[in-house]
Amino acid sequence: MCPSTLSEIHDRIRKKFYWNAEKCIGCRLCEFDCPSNALQLITIDETTQKYQMRYNAARCLFCAQCVVTCEEGSIAITSVEFDFSSNNKDDYEIVFG
Ligand code: SF4
Ligand code: SF4
Repeated sequence: MCPSTLSEIHDRIRKKFYWNAEKCIGCRLCEFDCPSNALQLITIDETTQKYQMRYNAARCLFCAQCVVTCEEGSIAITSVEFDFSSNNKDDYEIVFG
C-alpha cells in the first residue's frame, strides 16, 4: 500500500526524463542504446534538423544510458520530479519537441 507520507528521497535519485530539441542532431544513438526500447526519434525535417522525441516512461528503466550516450547533452534525467504513476497507459508516452 502506498505510504501517506513520503520517506526522504536521495538527491541523486533518477527521476523524470527530459529532452532538449535545440541540442539534438538526430544521430539516433540514444534510440539504439536504450535497453528497453523506450525512445523513438521522429524526424520532422531532416534539412533543418527538426525532430521530436517519443519517450515511453512505462518502458524506461531509469538506467541513464541515454544520458551517457548523447554527446550533445540533449538528454537529462532530472532529479526534481517523480511519482508519475497513472491508471491511463497513454500518460506514460510523452512526446517532446
Ligand atoms: S543521442 Fe542525443 S543528439 Fe543523438 S538523437 Fe539522441 S538526443 Fe539527439
Ligand atoms: S534511462 Fe535507460 S531505459 Fe530510460 S530511456 Fe534512457 S536508456 Fe532507455
